[in-house]
Amino acid sequence: MNDAPVVDLSLARYAVAGNPIAHSQSPFIHTQFALQTAQALSYERLLCPLDDFPATVQAFAAAGGRGCNVTVPFKFEAYRLAKQLSPRALLAGAVNTLRFDADGWFGDNTDGLGLVRDIEHNAGRSLAGQRVLLLGAGGASAGVLGSLIAAGPAEIKLANRSPAKAQALVDAHLDCAHQHGVLISASGLDDCGCAYPVVINGTSASLAGAGVPVGPQVLAPGALVVDMMYGPAAANFLDWARSHGATPRDGLGMLVEQAAAAFEIWRGLRPATAAVLAELRQRLA
Ligand code: NDP
Repeated sequence: MNDAPVVDLSLARYAVAGNPIAHSQSPFIHTQFALQTAQALSYERLLCPLDDFPATVQAFAAAGGRGCNVTVPFKFEAYRLAKQLSPRALLAGAVNTLRFDADGWFGDNTDGLGLVRDIEHNAGRSLAGQRVLLLGAGGASAGVLGSLIAAGPAEIKLANRSPAKAQALVDAHLDCAHQHGVLISASGLDDCGCAYPVVINGTSASLAGAGVPVGPQVLAPGALVVDMMYGPAAANFLDWARSHGATPRDGLGMLVEQAAAAFEIWRGLRPATAAVLAELRQRLA
């Protein structure tokens, strides 16, 4: 698999910053978007030392970088680097997209946009009026909760292994939920209720190879079950969903959709995603 773009310094340079970063599919996705929209840009992987994220990204900007995506574990540090923040990023307290504006870096968080777009547009399930169970209260859930609320479900239950963390995240989103008329509450994983038409796994249980953290009573008949994880690590959770009659969906669609939103922030153009998602699925199969 050789998708590393040749860095041409005459092109507008973008990157994905993280640690580890070798696995990232973002260079492939953004290279496809650039070809599709005839944008003259390059996109690289930026491996940042765990104790030196700001300096690495600042050096990239000084060398002509125009912006970057940010992934684990630097989304909170990226939030602190941005001078201007979108309302989404403010609510999440985390940034996955930086644009290096001359008058101060702009930070946004497109993870939630990506997730909602994948559920509603790609999977064809409207969230409006639905009951949604979101598992996990780490960076991924923090990044998507605001956008999930804005999609107008009737109820969101945020369940986490450490219930206090779920409660803190709910507290931070109470005003937003009230504004949208969404009932939101927190719980542990053992008492998170039952029969949800939409269940989203934002824990890293799949990544850790741990078992499914909830019982099948959480699934309504025909529920849509999304694991934000993708690839072999998501298989256990998605097999479990399938075996209980639910419709499983991995996090690849979210990945491509959050990338499309980032591309639009940088280039002012919205790329089409369906073909890129299909190619990515084929490439990772
Ligand atoms: P964090 O480390 O910030 O949070 C991890 C969360 O998982 C916490 O809520 C933690 O609970 C919970 N958890 C960990 N292990 C277990 C377990 N064995 N059983 C139950 N709960 C567990 O990670 P992130 O939030 O950043 O990432 C979560 C997942 O989302 C990852 O798999 C990541 O790859 C994926 N992701 C996918 C994206 C995409 O575009 N598709 C974008 C962003 C993330 P506790 O608080 O109790 O420790």
